[in-house]
Amino acid sequence: MARLIILGSGAALADASRDNTYMVLQGRESSILIDCGGSPLHKLQALGVDLNSLDSLIVTHHHPDHIYGVPVLLLGLWLYGRQEPFHIFAPQRSVAAITSIMDALEWQDWPGRMPVAFHEVEMRVGHRVIESPEFEITTAPVEHHVPTIAVKVMSRESSKTVVYSSDTEPCGALARLAQGADILIHESTGDYAGHSTSAQAGAMARRCGAGKLVLIHFTALDSELEGLRRAAEAEFDGPVELAEDFAVYPLQRPSSGA
Ligand SMILES: [Zn+2]
Repeated sequence: MARLIILGSGAALADASRDNTYMVLQGRESSILIDCGGSPLHKLQALGVDLNSLDSLIVTHHHPDHIYGVPVLLLGLWLYGRQEPFHIFAPQRSVAAITSIMDALEWQDWPGRMPVAFHEVEMRVGHRVIESPEFEITTAPVEHHVPTIAVKVMSRESSKTVVYSSDTEPCGALARLAQGADILIHESTGDYAGHSTSAQAGAMARRCGAGKLVLIHFTALDSELEGLRRAAEAEFDGPVELAEDFAVYPLQRPSSGA
């Protein structure tokens, strides 16, 4: 059964309870990371995700909190003995940033390293980046300080859809990608250019007709969390949750009870 697991739910400023935002899509046959923060192999193994099933990474943009885990991810997969190619899907600027970092770390000198294939994502709504027996994954360019994509995952088994906004201010491209999404995982960094407040995330969930809103990418004191939720609920009638590190979202339909 496919599921999406939040590996980190915090903004660029991580704190004691929230790592930087990234997540993994775990399927029966394959698993896909979306963005890459700290200690990915530690977290994946702690969660029971088979490293042999991990075949790709989608990077939404090249801000440090979204890509700093890539070097240790690739190092770890190589040390784990991976032979098969590993695939990285990302905007062109993110591909350039990752290859620069890896070149600086002299990855060409890692003997027997698995091949890493980079795939540049087209900056248009509905670009299909991955089509596998289990998932169809499409993207859309969103409004942030650098070229950034939102990511939509559809489970072929259930047709359930989850959209992750990445970092963005409200924009039409995200609304189109996320139209009718079962779950919208939306950033709520706050009132800053290139970002969204939780109220704006709520308004986007309403605009898309989302089934559920999950707020992510926030830094907040415990005493402020209810306020974040209430501001979103004032804009959106559906259920609103605050993402937690290691929260699990199954991509199946609730059983009919029959
Ligand atoms: Zn960013």
